[in-house]
Amino acid sequence: MADGKSKAEAAKLLRDKRAGRWYEAGLNFRCQAPGCSDCCSGKRGEGYVWLTADEMQALADYLGMEFDQFTRKYVRQVDYAFSLTEKPNNDCVFLKDGGCSVYPVRPTQCRTYPFWPNIMRAPETWAKEAQQCPGIGADTLVDADEIENQLEQDLEGRRRTGIQ
Ligand code: SF4
Ligand code: SF4
Repeated sequence: MADGKSKAEAAKLLRDKRAGRWYEAGLNFRCQAPGCSDCCSGKRGEGYVWLTADEMQALADYLGMEFDQFTRKYVRQVDYAFSLTEKPNNDCVFLKDGGCSVYPVRPTQCRTYPFWPNIMRAPETWAKEAQQCPGIGADTLVDADEIENQLEQDLEGRRRTGIQ
């Protein structure tokens, strides 16, 4: 149990951390799907959807496939990590009729976009991403704690995929 002093220190740490968040006032974002699927499509060229073993298993289960059968068909190795395969036009292999065909079990990075560390680095990187994602700047305010939560989930996912 924390004593009075450590509680005060924890509160100060939290205040300091929050003071450093450029997005403290929250950010406007609402995904425009099903009208948009730009971040799943090959519009930006080749991309990667990094996977943990648990995520591969969840996808295999969802599709009613054995793990090995699933990985042979849908997973490629990139150095020491694993990504979903893409269609010849660089669309994600699971993009179908303008939507995600595995939505309930989509991997972490699909859930956390656009709150990725490289995008959240600064207002400038966020503004640059807005040129690619029409959901950025939309009418829903995402508060700073939720953004932090998404960022942490994304970072943990990246650590578990082995790319960070
Ligand atoms: S690009 Fe943005 S608005 Fe479009 S599907 Fe992706 S997150 Fe949603
Ligand atoms: S798994 Fe689904 S959400 Fe993720 S990139 Fe592919 S189509 Fe998009």
